[in-house]
Amino acid sequence: SPPRSSVIIIGAGVSGLSAAKVLAENGIGDLLILEASDRIGGRIRKEMFGDVSVELGAGWIAGVGGKESNPVWEIAAKLGIRTCFSDYSNARYNIYDRSGKIFPSGIAADSYNKALGSAIQKLKGLESNNVEDATNRMDCSLTPKTPIELAIDFILHDFEMAEVEPISTYVDFGEREFLVADERGYEYLLYKMAEEFLFTSEGKILDNRLQLNKVVRELQHSRNGVTVKTEDGCVYEADYVILSASIGVLQSDLISFRPPLPRWKTEAIEKCEVMVYTKIFLKFPYKFWPCGPGKEFFIYAHERRGYYTFWQHMENAYPGSNILVVTLTNDESKRVESQSDEETMKEAMVVLRDMYGPEIPDATDILVPRWWNNRFQRCSYSNYPMISNNQVINDIKAPVGRIFFTGEHTSERFNGYVHGGHLAEPLLALASTQADAVSSLHKCDAPAQL
Ligand code: FAD
Repeated sequence: SPPRSSVIIIGAGVSGLSAAKVLAENGIGDLLILEASDRIGGRIRKEMFGDVSVELGAGWIAGVGGKESNPVWEIAAKLGIRTCFSDYSNARYNIYDRSGKIFPSGIAADSYNKALGSAIQKLKGLESNNVEDATNRMDCSLTPKTPIELAIDFILHDFEMAEVEPISTYVDFGEREFLVADERGYEYLLYKMAEEFLFTSEGKILDNRLQLNKVVRELQHSRNGVTVKTEDGCVYEADYVILSASIGVLQSDLISFRPPLPRWKTEAIEKCEVMVYTKIFLKFPYKFWPCGPGKEFFIYAHERRGYYTFWQHMENAYPGSNILVVTLTNDESKRVESQSDEETMKEAMVVLRDMYGPEIPDATDILVPRWWNNRFQRCSYSNYPMISNNQVINDIKAPVGRIFFTGEHTSERFNGYVHGGHLAEPLLALASTQADAVSSLHKCDAPAQL
């Protein structure tokens, strides 16, 4: 008969590993982690690019310096992870038009306030009514139209600026953000976390409770347990399953459920918006952009919203690296994911020549992550509609029989962030909805089958 564990955890990103760690700390050692890809980390992922380590997924520890301490910041500090403070406040004074002129600060400030006003008005409309009504009733003069207004609208919405509405991350943990700039990568946090409960040697995890390249395709569940089938034809059994796949994966048909998930569950999963967020890295033979104080972030105003709008140079993080990063989201992300990197580089060069003139050098290398087309991700993070009743998230995180759900999208306060995945607590649900669940798990002190 198939191997049986107390708990199978699907996914070895921050939420799956955090859940496994809590289980192990509570004496539940006979767990099994099945990860689809060939590595741990999920949406935390570094890659070497032009001699430095760049973060394709999560890059910042967001929410630092407030009244409560962000647990991810604490772990990073303990491990001595190298970080750089990101000061976004000047970005609005580095807005370029298509002829390379920087908008005067007065105009930039006016446009910023106008965009902010319109965002707040829209939110108020949403609070009092439905979306369509709010958009119809909105003062037309507040709708962003010009390139600078569109650029600011993009920054405010697609980057979740806390000025529009209070965001728990910044309210609870503080408004500062730190960029991880460490050769070991953001993922070093996860290796260190795994080391606490999995057998490792020389930086490698050598514990067969973690199985890589195991793509879960089917979950058959009943009152007696869960049968898990993977793409390579393996079958595993468990008393409980904790599923940490992203909201994008849940919306796709990668994993089928037998019996199917109930309607309230599938409807809630459909309601959650998925954000695609793409950081494109470009390497140059030398610097041609300004690098002084307040110049780290700069903005390109184009008549198409979100067209290569938000830029960052990496000189603060890695001096001398000669790397620029441009961030695209949603439709623009999907568009560049579907074209060749060569075409994307050409587009980016046209934009840079608009800003800095025709004589700047061509990029020598480009890196374009493809989160949307990755069938184990299908998104960058969840985005609950601005005004969504708590029912949606409660349904998304509610267990179905013996299947429990975790992941950043199940965090009521911190969805979309690393600390959201870290703090998502499927085990509380496990303990509270099935009074005898935790005690019925076979407790096991010795690490199973090393
Ligand atoms: P994941 O990390 O996605 O883990 C789920 C795991 O499940 C993956 O490893 C996946 O391979 C695996 N899996 C999926 N399907 C299956 C299957 N069928 N069988 C087996 N395994 C499966 N957060 C911040 O705090 N700061 C930031 O600056 C930031 N920036 C971001 C930028 C980008 C581009 C992206 C993509 C994300 C960013 N985030 C940021 C969000 C943050 O990365 C996520 O919230 C967090 O890493 C999610 O962790 P998770 O464990 O919920 O999911």
